[in-house]
Amino acid sequence: MEVEGSRCPFCAVSNSDNVKFCRRCLKAMAWPEKPRPSRPAFVVARTGIDAFIRGPNDGHPRNKSFDNSGDDAIGPIGTFFSPTGLRYLIRFDIEKAFSDARLSINDFFPEHVTLVLRTGNDEDAGENVPIVVFSLTRPFAEGTGEWGRHWRKDGGCNWIMASPDLSWKRPGGDFDEENWAKSELPRKGEHEIEIDVTELYKQKFESLKQTNRWEDFGMIILRNPKIYSKCRFRSIYGFQSSFDEKPFSYERAVKTPELYFE
Ligand SMILES: [Zn+2]
Repeated sequence: MEVEGSRCPFCAVSNSDNVKFCRRCLKAMAWPEKPRPSRPAFVVARTGIDAFIRGPNDGHPRNKSFDNSGDDAIGPIGTFFSPTGLRYLIRFDIEKAFSDARLSINDFFPEHVTLVLRTGNDEDAGENVPIVVFSLTRPFAEGTGEWGRHWRKDGGCNWIMASPDLSWKRPGGDFDEENWAKSELPRKGEHEIEIDVTELYKQKFESLKQTNRWEDFGMIILRNPKIYSKCRFRSIYGFQSSFDEKPFSYERAVKTPELYFE
């Protein structure tokens, strides 16, 4: 019996709801396999968890709260009151991305790993926002608050707590300060930013080789306090602005963060 599901936008055959590739024409039907990646890579990670957090003095201009804002499609990185008070946490589903690509993560060692972020069309930051990326050393719970609604929600990380039961050792996130990647967010307009995070991920692949366990708590991105700038903040698209998983036939621009392994 035919399963009532999604109709392939290319060949019109009906597929069951959760397929990623059409059973007749084998075209990718839905996020995260589609749209096609914009850069060469062995594996592209496009799903994961994220949260925007802010310091106690850094209520966003439109929302006075220092809860996280993981449910938001777009959120700020940079300076509001304190220089590094608006931060972003992100952890990609890397093991899933490898298994979806039918590659063994154990047999892989990256030459290049590139994080791609996209800025939204928010206000002018005054100057480019210099940013720095570190590896988190403690897992975080995905954000659940919402800027727009300004509801207090428990259960996600925030400036003080990594998860509902566990605080950060240092407010604002625990990360490995020995190893970092740098970049900057252009002061205004929509842009795609490539950040070379190879060194951060080489460490994780080396440790996988030694321990046979993949351990990655994700990354934290904040303004680089070592670079002088009068910048404020720029907003980037988070995972909540991703496509839904329904099949679609035309190419659309990806706005959410991506991680490219070469
Ligand atoms: Zn088809």
